Amino acid sequence: MKIADFKGIFSKAYLEVESVENPFKDFYLIKLKLPNGYTWSAGEHVNISFPDRKYMGRKWKTFSIASIDKEGYMLIATRTGEEASRYKSHLIDLRPGERVGVRGPFGSFKIADTSSPSVLVASGVGITPMRALIKAMAEDSNREINLVFAASDYYLFADEIEAMTVENSNIKLFKTSNRADTLEKVADLAAEYGNKAYYYMSGSNSMINSTEDVLNNKEISKKRIVKDPFIGY
Ligand SMILES: Cc1cc2nc3c(=O)[nH]c(=O)nc-3n(C[C@H](O)[C@H](O)[C@H](O)COP(=O)(O)OP(=O)(O)OC[C@H]3O[C@@H](n4cnc5c(N)ncnc54)[C@H](O)[C@@H]3O)c2cc1C
Repeated sequence: MKIADFKGIFSKAYLEVESVENPFKDFYLIKLKLPNGYTWSAGEHVNISFPDRKYMGRKWKTFSIASIDKEGYMLIATRTGEEASRYKSHLIDLRPGERVGVRGPFGSFKIADTSSPSVLVASGVGITPMRALIKAMAEDSNREINLVFAASDYYLFADEIEAMTVENSNIKLFKTSNRADTLEKVADLAAEYGNKAYYYMSGSNSMINSTEDVLNNKEISKKRIVKDPFIGY
């Protein structure tokens, strides 16, 4: 198949499950094998369905892609909450070799330019597209990358991102565990970079709204703000 066969809202591919991992409590990582020529831009998302399973309820849900295509696999991350929904029960029960339907990739959460410093603000599982953005930015540029990562119990991908900060001094990780500290760090970074930086936000709507209020107070232009609200939480 040609790359063009996979592009656009209506294109659907069938990807094989490589593994499902459970790194902590109700966090899950699903790794999918890529067909030849399957590409996407860092930050995009896909809709995932289970063509070989029959059940009542929602047949597909949206997930950000946590990997970049150069890694050679599609990585999806999720959290089920205390009781997994019917959809997520199937997602985390997938077996290696089983296929999933993948519609997309699509979305406007993308790297805005090739050189501006960046301030990334993620909450919880909103870290997923940020992993891809950091990998793509670090690979393609020498820009400064600041990640403010808010989580209450577990920082998904933090070990990997911490290792990247050791290798590349342009990358900085600020872990926070409450809203006040998160917003204070965002305010400090906005004061430091002003409208020289792009500000990327991913997570729940409430987190995005309060972060945006801080940026507005610091007179950051709306053109410098890139958002990925995780509708559904
Ligand atoms: C652009 C976009 C990207 C997205 N990317 C991701 C992604 O990368 N990973 C991802 O997991 N989701 C992502 N989502 C949200 C995803 O599509 C689902 O809506 C969401 O995961 C909830 O699915 P569910 O089956 O648990 O939903 P529901 O059946 O609605 O869940 C039932 C309830 O369980 C509780 N619950 C479920 N999950 C959690 C949780 N993590 N923490 C606390 N309570 C919870 C909530 O009360 C929820 O309402 C994205 C959505 C959009 C629009």
